[in-house]
Amino acid sequence: MKLYGSKLLSRDKIEEIISKGLNYVHFSPSLEQAYRQQYRAEAAYEFRFRAPIIFFLYAFLSYGIYQTIQNDPIVFRWFALYSWVGVIVLFAWILSFFKCLNRYFDLYTGFGCMGAVTISFMTVTIIGHGNDNSLLHAAMMYAVVIIYGFVGLRFYTALIAGWVGGLIGIAGTHFLQYDIDWTFLHRTYTFSSFLGMSLAYAIDRQHRENYLQNCIIELNKLEMDEQAKQLEHLSQIDSLTGLANRRHLSLILDQQWRYAIRHQTPISILMVDIDCFKNYNDHLGHIAGDECLQIIAKELDNLSSRSNDLAARYGGEEFLLLFPMFDEKKVEALARILIQRIQKLALPHPASPISSLVTVSIGIASTIPTVDQDMTAFIQQADQALYYAKTHGRNQYFIAKKTAA
Ligand code: GH3
Ligand code: MG
Ligand code: MG
Repeated sequence: MKLYGSKLLSRDKIEEIISKGLNYVHFSPSLEQAYRQQYRAEAAYEFRFRAPIIFFLYAFLSYGIYQTIQNDPIVFRWFALYSWVGVIVLFAWILSFFKCLNRYFDLYTGFGCMGAVTISFMTVTIIGHGNDNSLLHAAMMYAVVIIYGFVGLRFYTALIAGWVGGLIGIAGTHFLQYDIDWTFLHRTYTFSSFLGMSLAYAIDRQHRENYLQNCIIELNKLEMDEQAKQLEHLSQIDSLTGLANRRHLSLILDQQWRYAIRHQTPISILMVDIDCFKNYNDHLGHIAGDECLQIIAKELDNLSSRSNDLAARYGGEEFLLLFPMFDEKKVEALARILIQRIQKLALPHPASPISSLVTVSIGIASTIPTVDQDMTAFIQQADQALYYAKTHGRNQYFIAKKTAA
């Protein structure tokens, strides 16, 4: 699951928040917003499983109360009032299945809980008035503790629902002109509210800490993914020229070769070698040689510009360019362009017997491969063509098994 908190905070910042403590069970505004979004989705999901349990507890308790007061005339009034608690639980349960209502989770469970507390409270003060009402008190205590500790409300929502529900209960009782036995109520409603508050506080605090810990885990994972990507990239490129290395070339070449066999499309390669490069190094030094390799590599990279083209460093001063879907004619044109571009670079070569500038020789191989054709032999053809280009004077291209260009 994506935790938006991991986008908002660094690992250090999260650790700082945890170490400072979560005593106020509230984050900074932006983190709080991200947290609540996550919390509501999770709490609504959880509530789908908790509501039936709550309903079962409610039904179990109701049955007990009914057993005790079934012969008392108050049973009908009790049922008329107390059954609404069941209706509230069922209604909230149904709402929790609608994902689009997740963002209203606090609202519908908060109001539902408030209503349940009010009803439980007034069941005690109105129905239990003048009767042996200890079971109704117990029912109210259960209701309060369940609301605080089991519905999954945040601490502050639970606080409001619990106390405001009680206040409405008091107001309703006065409105209907019943007395409130405060001594008994303090031992049940007030005490269970404090107990529930403590539970809700501990749960909310723990939930927030877990959230932050999960953000750290997610950040670690993102970092590892990023490192893995970087490593993969590094394992594919040649560090001096930035072109693909030989390992990556083999992989791509293999893929493209098989693609060309399957779809009977052309595939072409250029084997490019810098002429008299040993002399270049000997006269201008190894560092100048490296720079020259980088400049030539950039030119090769520019030439292989389509998404499936690939320029790779094949060995020391030797490169292989791969052009899937290009036939001999097209790559021949490219070879011509390349020789011109290298000439245009006008890199001085003081020790070349061919030219005063750096030049390259190119071997071309092109085919529409068949199943029994060997890819290594195909590369050897390009190598052979390069050899011909070399032995026939360099600074030119040669097409495999064809005459000189
Ligand atoms: P030819 O025209 O026949 O290709 O002759 P050449 O001198 O270019 O070929 P040879 O194979 O004799 O020499 C290749 C040279 O490339 C030798 C080596 O010093 C140089 N070389 C290979 N890799 C690097 C490198 O990474 N940096 C530098 N500066 N030189 C390199
Ligand atoms: Mg060379
Ligand atoms: Mg060479």
